[in-house]
Order: sequence, then structure tokens, then C-alpha cells
Amino acid sequence: MKKEDCIFCKIANGEIPAKTLYEDDSFRVILDLGPATKGHALILPKNHADDLFGLDDDTAAKTMILAKKMAGTLKEKLGCAGINLVQNNGEIAGQTVMHFHLHLIPRYEDDGQKIQWVPGKPSQDELEKIQQQIIE
Ligand code: 5GP
Ligand code: ZN
Repeated sequence: MKKEDCIFCKIANGEIPAKTLYEDDSFRVILDLGPATKGHALILPKNHADDLFGLDDDTAAKTMILAKKMAGTLKEKLGCAGINLVQNNGEIAGQTVMHFHLHLIPRYEDDGQKIQWVPGKPSQDELEKIQQQIIE
């Protein structure tokens, strides 16, 4: 299902043009307009889901299979040294377009990008409390 006024619904379904790298019945893969690196691509399901929380299992599974295929293509064609998969959910997590999408960011020597966080230093007790909170 498409969502009214969703730009990625319109791009995924071909109503707004984008540089398409791959398309099938369920997905379109496009080049990001504001790329982190050369070949930065976005996997867009054609059916609308706001984010990972709203994504159906079948699309979730197929997204990762497609990511694997596209990662191989980007590596082969662009000769990148690695690839980051990035997927933001919610404004707090950096999501700016509220239609689920998966970033594929090819990485090159000295590409000047940093996709990282500051590691915390939790005690074993703290880790155990969090573990219990999640699995209980
Ligand atoms: P987010 O921050 O939601 O994870 O990522 C949104 C991404 O979509 C950004 O990297 C941004 O550059 C890209 N983007 C936003 N609007 C458009 C557009 O109209 N066309 C394309 N190709 N990419 C877009
Ligand atoms: Zn949408």
C-alpha cells in the first residue's frame, strides 16, 4: 500500500524520478541525492511502512537478501573497500524520510566519512540488568 504525500512511495513506484540501480515488483534501489560516498544507495520497498517497527516480516527478510545482492554489485562495479548498512528509525535516530529504507554506503580509503559511536563502559552488573530488562 502507498501512503499519500510520501516522497519515497512516489519514488519507489516511479511517480518521481530517481537514479534507479535495481527494480522488481517489491523494491526499487536508488542513488541517494545527498550521498555520503560514491554509490550511496537506498533500498526502498514499494509498499509503505513508516519504519522497521511497521515493516512486515516478508519485506524485512527480502530487504536483507537484496542488500546482500546490491552490496556485491557495488563492490564489484565501484571497487569499494567495504560497505556500511545503515537504517534509521525515528527522528531521534536520524530518520528524516518516514518511509522505511536501508542505506548502502560504499566505503573507500580516505573517504572522509565516519559512521561510529562513542563506546560506553558498563559494568557486568549493568549489562546483566539490561539483559534481564530485555529478555524478561
Ligand atoms: P534518513 O536520514 O531518513 O535515514 O535518510 C534519508 C535519505 O534520503 C538521505 O540520505 C537523503 O539524502 C535521501 N533523500 C531525501 N530525499 C531524497 C530524494 O528525493 N531522492 C533521493 N534519491 N534521495 C533522497
Ligand atoms: Zn511511503
